[in-house]
Amino acid sequence: MELAGKVVVITGAAGGIGAALARRFADEGVAGLVLADLDAAAAEALAASINRGLTRAVGCDVTDPAQVAALVEVAHEAFGPVDLFCSNAGITTGTGLDTTDESWDRAWSVNVHAHVVAARAVLPSMLDRGAGYLLQTCSAAGLLTAVGDAPYAVTKHAAVGFAEWLSMTYGDRGIGVSALCPQGVRTPMLEAGLAQGHAGAQITAAAGEVLTPEQVADAVVEGLAAERFLILPHPEVATYQQRKV
Ligand code: NAD
Repeated sequence: MELAGKVVVITGAAGGIGAALARRFADEGVAGLVLADLDAAAAEALAASINRGLTRAVGCDVTDPAQVAALVEVAHEAFGPVDLFCSNAGITTGTGLDTTDESWDRAWSVNVHAHVVAARAVLPSMLDRGAGYLLQTCSAAGLLTAVGDAPYAVTKHAAVGFAEWLSMTYGDRGIGVSALCPQGVRTPMLEAGLAQGHAGAQITAAAGEVLTPEQVADAVVEGLAAERFLILPHPEVATYQQRKV
């Protein structure tokens, strides 16, 4: 997918990776950029810092189907049908078996079910037009043997599975699907994980190179241009680059 002239929605847009995607997509000449985040004020600040004419900010909880439907409607009214939906919001909750059921539920809800909610909201219009792209931010934690924080690793495996299912099911109808699977990106999520002693963050930091959000955004733009099932692992997980749908 060439980004110039496209209408793009990003969830979790105010976070490290989301904001880097937004800035990079603006540089690529998208026609409209709708920036959604639970933190409406932060999304608003990001939108203002990019280009008011090109952006809309929406306070949105990605786990709420009504809010996500409204988000897609904002994009449609402001710029036209959504070409690329980046389902990027994600959270870490808890570590092991002592994680509360509420935290497990929240991890499932944000890291997995939100991708389902997003697909339901945008796919009908994309299928009508025979074109569209779903970029789902998963994680290397969804590809590797599950180590670190159980709710995160387990839900990210499920998210990769859902992206593959979408690609298998809709790939021959003009729908591109990629699972973005970075490992170790210097964002508020990683910083908070390190500060709180989360095993996943510690393993990530110990594994070597920590990427910048801008490096992730560069890889996404390159991957979208190549129309490939994009994953962005470290060299030690390079074998997973073959895991293309
Ligand atoms: P971040 O914490 O900087 O950003 C996440 C954003 O999502 C925040 O702005 C937050 O407000 C928003 N958010 C959380 N719950 C939400 C909800 N219910 N509805 C709407 N927005 C919500 O984290 P990040 O590192 O930029 O993470 C972005 C994505 O990348 C996540 O899916 C994360 O799991 C994934 N990821 C991050 C890393 C890393 O090392 N940072 C590695 C692999 C994958």
